[in-house]
Amino acid sequence: MDFRLTDEQLEFQQQCRSFAAEVIRPLADKYDREQSVPWEAIEAARRWGLHGVDHLMRMGSDPDGMFGVIYAEELHWGCAGIALAITASNLAAAGIAASGTPEQVMRWVPECFGEGDEIKLAAYAVTEAGAGSDVKSLRTTARLDPDADEWVLNGTKVFISNGGIADVNVVVATVDPDLGHRGQASFIVPKGTPGLSRGKKEDKIGIRASQTTEIVLEDVRIPMEYLLGGKEKLDRKLERARSGNRSGPSNALATFEITRPMVGASALGIGRAAYEYTLEYLEGKADESGPLLEQQHVQQTLADVATEIEAARLLVWRAAWMGRNGVPMTGGQGSMSKLKAGDVTMWATTVLMDLVGEYAQSTECPLEKYFRDAKIYQLFEGTAQVQRLVISRMQRQDHQERLVTAAEVLQQAPGTATGEPLDDDKEPAAV
Ligand SMILES: Cc1cc2nc3c(=O)[nH]c(=O)nc-3n(C[C@H](O)[C@H](O)[C@H](O)COP(=O)(O)OP(=O)(O)OC[C@H]3O[C@@H](n4cnc5c(N)ncnc54)[C@H](O)[C@@H]3O)c2cc1C
Repeated sequence: MDFRLTDEQLEFQQQCRSFAAEVIRPLADKYDREQSVPWEAIEAARRWGLHGVDHLMRMGSDPDGMFGVIYAEELHWGCAGIALAITASNLAAAGIAASGTPEQVMRWVPECFGEGDEIKLAAYAVTEAGAGSDVKSLRTTARLDPDADEWVLNGTKVFISNGGIADVNVVVATVDPDLGHRGQASFIVPKGTPGLSRGKKEDKIGIRASQTTEIVLEDVRIPMEYLLGGKEKLDRKLERARSGNRSGPSNALATFEITRPMVGASALGIGRAAYEYTLEYLEGKADESGPLLEQQHVQQTLADVATEIEAARLLVWRAAWMGRNGVPMTGGQGSMSKLKAGDVTMWATTVLMDLVGEYAQSTECPLEKYFRDAKIYQLFEGTAQVQRLVISRMQRQDHQERLVTAAEVLQQAPGTATGEPLDDDKEPAAV
């Protein structure tokens, strides 16, 4: 096992780090203050090869799965709001890739980013008032109008990143509310579709450079082929759900696990930025007891922060590697990585503010922005509490499956786990 990054990964990390330092950091305060869309940063990301379809393909080319988490950590080190403005379209593209037919993926994923100098954005709209963690309770409806061969969508989505500015909206709606999440499907709603409008724009405490709004759908009509995956697949799914057959829940959960490490890495970018800032701020400062960095209570806190960030990063990198290499995260390893990184970052920004003291209360101090930006990583893409539920459920199921496997192995021929006869030189296989 080699924990070092390869030369290619180090080079990519350096590119992302330079982009964050030279482009994102100088714009961070302006967009945080104005709470406007940082188009210039998104355009620059495209010029640097860090936004768009080519960039996505490059990210997928790393056999260890490290490119994605390196990219997320470095850009969020620059400014979490701007980083999210650059990356939020990825979520919609991932939704299309997960549910769409190959033809739909070919058509709509490029539309999420635009090509050449043209910048396009996308939004992934699931959450509703009363249906955040409880996704099965979505009330946005999709009704088929068979005469027109069109879907008609009605409902309001809340807290949608890139809401109102997205060229492509991936909207999750219910086709049969009685079936919970198994009666839901994803639809493409392009910008400009009659009946689609932007609702309230959120005035947020953190990640302010990323636009978050309601999306309102009033008798929005879209062609039949904008249903991701197609009608036949949906009919089969509904049929299975109505007849009580279900596909394995553990597979579905394990699939969700794959996207979590990127979110964890994003949080760590903020945590690392706060830690580095504090080290630099305390350097050379002293009180009546002497230099601050030589005082034990300061050293204890800094050591804890550094250790927690490293521990969280190891969880993030492990989950990213598992996802890329097809190792099922049946123990909730993806959720663990997001949970730990989010909690560590929120905690670290708080204790680092304590070390800096009263200056940390000033909006001049960068720590106050890191503190505001950190909170969302305990909230979106699965709250910290829901991650704990997922981990606990998956751990329990994993444990049950291990017990069943162990019992099966014990029933095999004595002496070996495989049932093969022991040869004299062979150790028995471990269970
Ligand atoms: C800035 C921002 C951007 C966002 N971007 C998007 C986006 O692009 N697309 C999108 O679809 N959504 C987006 N969201 C929505 C986000 O995913 C939801 O806020 C999140 O899923 C939580 O849902 P909720 O806010 O409805 O909280 P709730 O689900 O109502 O939860 C409220 C509290 O109850 C806890 N809780 C809920 N259920 C349980 C349980 N079973 N056990 C223990 N505790 C529980 C939660 O942990 C939380 O603390 C965004 C949100 C924000 C703030």
